Amino acid sequence: MSDAQPAPQSAPQPTAQPAAQSASQPAPQKFEFQAEIKQLLDIVIHSLYTEREIFVRELVSNAADALEKFRHLQLTEKNLPDDPRPLEINITTDDKAKTITIADDGIGMTGAELVENLGTIAHSGSKAFLKALGENGRKNASLIGQFGVGFYSAFMVAKEVRVTSRSWRADEPAHTWTSDGSGSYTIEPAPAGTPRGATIAITLKDDCADFATDARIKQILEHYSAFVSHPINLNGKRTNTVQALWLRNKNEIKDEEYTEFYKFQAHAWDDPRLRLHFSADAPLAINALLFVPNENTERMGLMRLEPAVALYCRKVLIDARPKDLLPEWLRFLKGVIDCEDLPLNISRETMQDKALLDKLGKVITKRFIKFLDEEAAARPESYNAFYQNFGIFLKEGAALDHANKDAITKLLRYESSLTEKGKTTSLADYVSRMKEGQVEIYHLTGATREAIESGPYLEGFKSRNIEVLYCYETVDEYVMSNVREFDGKKLIAADTSDIKLPDAPKPPDAAGALAEADMKTLAAWLKTTLAARGVEDVKASDRLVDSPALALNADKFMTPHMRRMMRAMAQQNKSDKDAAPAGPPLKINLEINPRSAVIKHLFAAKTSAPEKAVLIAEQILDNALISAGLLDDASKMVARIYKLLESA
Ligand code: ADP
Ligand code: MG
Repeated sequence: MSDAQPAPQSAPQPTAQPAAQSASQPAPQKFEFQAEIKQLLDIVIHSLYTEREIFVRELVSNAADALEKFRHLQLTEKNLPDDPRPLEINITTDDKAKTITIADDGIGMTGAELVENLGTIAHSGSKAFLKALGENGRKNASLIGQFGVGFYSAFMVAKEVRVTSRSWRADEPAHTWTSDGSGSYTIEPAPAGTPRGATIAITLKDDCADFATDARIKQILEHYSAFVSHPINLNGKRTNTVQALWLRNKNEIKDEEYTEFYKFQAHAWDDPRLRLHFSADAPLAINALLFVPNENTERMGLMRLEPAVALYCRKVLIDARPKDLLPEWLRFLKGVIDCEDLPLNISRETMQDKALLDKLGKVITKRFIKFLDEEAAARPESYNAFYQNFGIFLKEGAALDHANKDAITKLLRYESSLTEKGKTTSLADYVSRMKEGQVEIYHLTGATREAIESGPYLEGFKSRNIEVLYCYETVDEYVMSNVREFDGKKLIAADTSDIKLPDAPKPPDAAGALAEADMKTLAAWLKTTLAARGVEDVKASDRLVDSPALALNADKFMTPHMRRMMRAMAQQNKSDKDAAPAGPPLKINLEINPRSAVIKHLFAAKTSAPEKAVLIAEQILDNALISAGLLDDASKMVARIYKLLESA
């Protein structure tokens, strides 16, 4: 705080001397605004119409700052003059006169400080706002809603602003600062009885008269200033009664208080499912109180959620719904982030610094992920219930939030060939159970556990006791291919063709299997016979135990699951709904089981009954395609089966 002097060296000098000066009552002195302020005022007055109401927030937060500074003085200054008034903010409106007045009994300003603080930009949070406007043109005027331009926002609504103030310093006279925002302001002495503090009296423009009504101001105060710790009285009535719970010691807060706060702050009806209340000092001073709602309304088919964690600076709302603060996948979170550091140490103007907000978002995101990880370990039941409802967001995060991919992937849960139905495992637990020599993590996609387990793909893994994760949701395939690897191990779909399984255990009836040479002949014959059906390669399988054959998708870019989806889409768009949809052309690698009776029979039939052998070959392929979910058209199959039955 600068020493109280009549006028600091740096302050602008009066541009016009008062015409007449009586000894007892000096006339107003006129000053020009600094050039940047003129520019700012021009924008504020002529370009900003949408968020005019934030002038209330700005003036209330200035008043709260002034009260806070005075409270600090009470602790540090010994010779403060006695003044029994409570530290509070009083707002009065007069809809007949179209005025609104915001008064506080904080530290106040000397005449020199009025010039310095309200006439130059040095002390205002507006510098960077101007800079941002300069860089991006006037479109960015919307920034004002997010960060405000402080005191000058009053000129969005004011014909005239009068600031009457007396400093806390005992021997300083009071002054009144007056301006209509058009380039200059005046300063004149105020009556001797003016109490300590500042009173901002605004005469509203005609089209802003609603800011002189009690109801409108009440609503604005509830929105922006509900948690300001000093009392705010509107026309004599206290408006802010809710505490800034996030700043209190969490050991002293009851569950009911949290729940009530959540309902108030998030406009929610349910009880929160999870909550994280934390403070940090470094790298930023943060107090945050985050909630996970009970229900995932997006999952219930309601609208896509919008970011809803509010950003506060020392209890004053900056933005109720900051868009880019947290990553998209955290859009289910509710609550409050209060970053104290910003106005205190870096000054509010830096708030417009995108890098700083990014940093804040990163810190909160990491902390929340850590919280979920701890929850999963400490209360698995509750975590699983959370996951049931909100897991879809974690999957989105794992796939898209590259900075946190690994940490989020750790939070994913899947059923697997080793879990019971309905029980899940994490990828970390999967890795801890991996067999010696196993270097990849396997997963299979299917609608249900039964669908996956009845297919042929699992056989080879089961026989080797290799765990396979079961993916039931459409997004899983996308998630797996985006996540790509976990803990250094690749995530591999168990129905892709290039899997090398470790040490094939010797099948029990190896003796009865077709000889290798016969298998080669049979494979070559099948390849030619089925080429027209999209079969590109045929080989002896080392993964089959019971089934005769297995169809592997040879098209890396078109997984079976994706293909099914494309077919469903094609079906929807087709005019003839009864005809089978074609789907994209197939590319199949067929694996056949040399131990299977059907395959042995086929080998014999190839010479003894060639025509019938072709029918059998086609039917084996169709059966394998059905298991893979790849059969597009079953109509031919029916006719073929009848033929086979006839010949039986
Ligand atoms: P900021 O609050 O970001 O510093 P403002 O434009 O809102 O920027 O305010 C400019 C300065 O004017 C403040 O820093 C403060 O020094 C002074 N000021 C504004 N309102 C008051 C008040 N009610 N009491 C005392 N000083 C005030
Ligand atoms: Mg301010």
